[in-house]
Amino acid sequence: MTVLCLASGCSVAEDGFISAYRDGKQAAVSLTFDDGILDHYTLVAPHLDSLSLRATFWINGASIGQMNDGYSPRITWEMCREMSEHGHEISNHSWSHPNLTNLSEERIREEVFKNDDAIEAATGKRPVTFCYPFNAQNELVASICHEGRILTRDYQEAQGQVNSHSTPESLRAWLDRTIANGEWGVTMTHGIHNGWDQWNDEDVLWDFYKDLASRQDKVWIDTFAAVAAYRAEREHCTIAVRKYRNRIGIKPACDLDPSLYHELLTAEVTVDGHKHLFNFDPFGKEQFFRIGQQ
Ligand SMILES: [Zn+2]
Repeated sequence: MTVLCLASGCSVAEDGFISAYRDGKQAAVSLTFDDGILDHYTLVAPHLDSLSLRATFWINGASIGQMNDGYSPRITWEMCREMSEHGHEISNHSWSHPNLTNLSEERIREEVFKNDDAIEAATGKRPVTFCYPFNAQNELVASICHEGRILTRDYQEAQGQVNSHSTPESLRAWLDRTIANGEWGVTMTHGIHNGWDQWNDEDVLWDFYKDLASRQDKVWIDTFAAVAAYRAEREHCTIAVRKYRNRIGIKPACDLDPSLYHELLTAEVTVDGHKHLFNFDPFGKEQFFRIGQQ
């Protein structure tokens, strides 16, 4: 990113740029869960909450609260609200989980925006991301699903045992790879005790979350919306870094819509050979950070 010295009398910091991920982390992981399965509330969320990890739950309004649909019981709107209050993202997986590529434009719009309305009514937060049912999309579906949204889920790492055959070794290898390559890893998990791709030994999953949480010095773990927003802001923002006697000024310029994007960005600034990390508001005025007595 551009480093400029705009004020008279200031000196340019030796180096300054916006980190690939929050807090200068090397990689990111978003844990995402499909279909609003009751196990996500009864089993997954308590494990994640105990590790202070935030995740994303893609739900279908039409099946919310269903307890006997012949597949697996679903969470309720009250559970959605509670999970949202705990910092998790409750987001849009369409109203009734059809293959959207088979529908008319009118029906696609109904499936997408009816679910937005229902989630917003239940949680107070309008979804800013979307997950395609069956991961099925075409040009029309994608264009509608991107309206007023940060990002849709376009790739994912399936984690489960009955279909995806996840093992402790495979989960660890995926995380190792994600970190080594500096990637944003997005997981997809369905049922735990029942439903598609359920787990025979659920402790494998809980142990993976403990392993993941223990590597937060390298991995930023956050909701799909948070990481997606950070990455978009990073691409659309520049910073001017100014060095004063004992503080650094960061003046951002960002051409995104601040009503949709709210993530703080991290600047890595090297001063006199020392690297500093500063989290700044990309839509704010110049922000100042102390760097100690000099
Ligand atoms: Zn689904």
